[in-house]
Amino acid sequence: MWSIDRAYIDGAFVPVQGSERLEIANPATEQTIGTVTLANREDAKRAIAAANRAQPVLAASTKAQRIEMLRQLEAAVLARTDQIRDATIEEYGGPLARAQWVSNYASQCFATTAQALRDYAFERRLGEATVVMEPVGVAGLIAPWNAAAGSICSKLASAVAAGCASVIKPSELGPLQAQVVTEALHDAGLPAGVFNVLLGRGNDVGDEISTSPDIAKISFTGSTQTGKLIARAGVDTMKRVSLALSGKSATVVLDDADLAAVLPMALNAAFMNNGQACVAGTRLLVPHVHMAEAIEHLQAAVAAMRVGDPRDPATAIGPLASKAQFERVQHFIRRGLAQGAMLVAGGEGRPNGLGRGWFVQPTVFAGVHNHMDIARQEIFGPVLSAIGYGDDDEAIAIANDSAYGLQAYVFSSQPERALRVASQLRAGTVLVNRIVPELSAPFGGVKQSGIGREFGVFGMEAFLEPKTIAAANNFA
Ligand code: NAD
Repeated sequence: MWSIDRAYIDGAFVPVQGSERLEIANPATEQTIGTVTLANREDAKRAIAAANRAQPVLAASTKAQRIEMLRQLEAAVLARTDQIRDATIEEYGGPLARAQWVSNYASQCFATTAQALRDYAFERRLGEATVVMEPVGVAGLIAPWNAAAGSICSKLASAVAAGCASVIKPSELGPLQAQVVTEALHDAGLPAGVFNVLLGRGNDVGDEISTSPDIAKISFTGSTQTGKLIARAGVDTMKRVSLALSGKSATVVLDDADLAAVLPMALNAAFMNNGQACVAGTRLLVPHVHMAEAIEHLQAAVAAMRVGDPRDPATAIGPLASKAQFERVQHFIRRGLAQGAMLVAGGEGRPNGLGRGWFVQPTVFAGVHNHMDIARQEIFGPVLSAIGYGDDDEAIAIANDSAYGLQAYVFSSQPERALRVASQLRAGTVLVNRIVPELSAPFGGVKQSGIGREFGVFGMEAFLEPKTIAAANNFA
């Protein structure tokens, strides 16, 4: 049984002052596997103070020293990759391949950030001025449960590269991942206070971070709803705010694409992480003329998907993270039916043979109109909506007719045509004939999917602020 009752403050694991306890359950079995005692505002204040004490030294560190810190963090997290993977599987049922990818990414992001830092010019001349990129100050890093390790490590990498000490608040719904990652980060041996980690409620610890005058910057990943609360809470102290938010991504299959080759990838884009991914491509745009054939491919592919024990390498889809997630998905499946969408795979309830655990049936709707709730709202489960279109312009218009704009996917056999469509899609990232991201390139959303970018040089710049120094030529 896990018992997590410490926060990481000023370089040490210390008992939290908060007293609220939550049970941690394995979503594949619904069995309790431990408890977590949440930190409170007093703990957050201590963590913020520790980060502020560390800030001047970190801000004054050289590029070489920061690269060395990133190298130490990379090595420490790499050494715990398997533990991070196992915690991801145990805590929210991430299937093995995805959990492995996420835990590899947790160490890789330190390496990609170190590379960006190596090549970065902190000082440049513009006209008669020298412009210096300075650390913005102490940062609050607030992470979701569905990408805990990756989100924590990627934000921390950018903050350290820029010279910002941080207070990290992982989701209270991801305590195992947070604990294992924090133990790894501690092993890196960074100076005390450079980063501090505490698990607490959003409206308590999260709010303390968002409103504290001693936090200069918030880097948040989570839902659009919470992002707005944080942006509002931060404005009184004029915080710099980066928000990586929800999505409802479109996958555009052009009429020249080889359906047999691309639809498995499109399904993967929709159902990755059991459908609990911000970048899930949950609106599948298929030409009307190919829709019947596409449905047959999708039905066959879904029928071949194994739902079950997330530790089994043969499993494609594990359980959803919680009962709340399970019920949310059931609600949307009922909503799709009520609004007239055609169920072509899956449906309500658990898959046959799985009586326990928050397992849902991978579900595909066809005949979906883009105005239906299942096409407009983020479901956060393995539910795909196939939407028909006439020509490329209509596909672009449907893809762009969304409140969100995080990621989009285009599949085609003609590179120039695919790139023409990609250039017209309103999304922070467009992946063409692939679903694997480029980790050195900026990642973030347009519209309701967020403000600002993460990863690589753009991620680091989100923690920097330019200062202009223009001196007269003569001091006489
Ligand atoms: P959430 O918004 O419920 O919570 C995210 C974090 O915010 C948690 O740590 C939570 O405790 C904290 N929080 C909640 N209320 C707060 C408040 N008032 N002040 C400060 N902090 C507060 O999101 P979630 O359910 O953990 O994650 C799923 C959502 O995150 C989905 O919408 C998904 O699309 C999105 N997401 C986006 C990205 C991206 O990069 N764009 C990546 C992963 C997840």
